[in-house]
Amino acid sequence: MATATLTIDLDALTSNWHALDSLSACETAAVVKANGYGLGADRVAKALLDAGARRFFVAVAEEGAALRAALGPGPEINVFSGHMAGDSEMIAEMQLTPMLNSLDQMLRHFETLPGAPFGIQLDTGMNRLGMEPAEWDAVREIALEQGPTLLMSHLACADDPEHPMNPQQLAAFHEMTDGLDVPRSLSATGGILLGPDYHFDLTRPGVGLYGGLPFVDAAPVAGIHVPVIQIREVAPGETVGYGNTWTAERPSRIATISGGYADGILRAMGPKAHVFAAETRCKIIGRISMDLIGVDITDAPDIPDTVELLGQHQSVDTLADAAGTIGYEILTSLGARYRRHYLTS
Ligand SMILES: *Cc1c(COP(=O)(O)O)cnc(C)c1O
Repeated sequence: MATATLTIDLDALTSNWHALDSLSACETAAVVKANGYGLGADRVAKALLDAGARRFFVAVAEEGAALRAALGPGPEINVFSGHMAGDSEMIAEMQLTPMLNSLDQMLRHFETLPGAPFGIQLDTGMNRLGMEPAEWDAVREIALEQGPTLLMSHLACADDPEHPMNPQQLAAFHEMTDGLDVPRSLSATGGILLGPDYHFDLTRPGVGLYGGLPFVDAAPVAGIHVPVIQIREVAPGETVGYGNTWTAERPSRIATISGGYADGILRAMGPKAHVFAAETRCKIIGRISMDLIGVDITDAPDIPDTVELLGQHQSVDTLADAAGTIGYEILTSLGARYRRHYLTS
């Protein structure tokens, strides 16, 4: 079988959740948007539910509906994008809690689903989603009368603990929410690491659960092993792959492995990326193609059956660095072709 294996360690996932939960001076939710950062929202959320998470966040209502079908009634499913036109029926039927972002969304929610739960997203400076201070001032009496479940905002620079934007947004959040008798949430993974001042009543980690920075102590969750299809010996001067971008400078042993950019092994990472043949770090050579990659295994003592792209030897962030991106994008780019294998004790 040539299909690469994507192993998802659910025990590592739940131990990351417990670790972030013990760092949080409050309740800890779980963000499972984008199919659980590419790792399978239903399996991930069920494992986190068993571990004790009771509130989940997704980006859009459709993700919330799929998650409700997987989890059943009970756990709270919050939708960051709020209440969009056309979503009312789904929000009601699947018992979703939209985080209302604007006066428009508020009116839509109160008119179409009076009495249905909702939260409010406030903009403390990121200028992405949420009500700005003036808008919030104008509508907050009406909003509070309807009993929001949560007031939330999002930090733009929490991955950099020294960034002045952090205290600035913290102060803005206090200003917009102090004295109101509603649970509050400001922090994702980065904010949890900024300390208890940033935690309020609920934290919302995503990437740290899945083993990514800025949670440096995260246990690796995703592992990728790619089968070797063919081995060849090339002489100095021979080239490998599309565009002849790599030329052997020594007699070399090349493994052609069964993965490519269609699997989220981004083409841009080619010149800098490595895989592991057992304990030997081996350079990816030539262009990454859609389904195949060349690897220089000359220095490996044994010919491997598979090579490790992600796992104990290499984290999502190492791979992200090679592609000039972040771990989030590596995880959410993993394609549909993997044989997915969930590990749990
Ligand atoms: C994605 C997201 C999170 C989770 O962020 P991480 O950095 O992955 O922990 C939390 N809150 C909001 C609003 C988000 O968009």
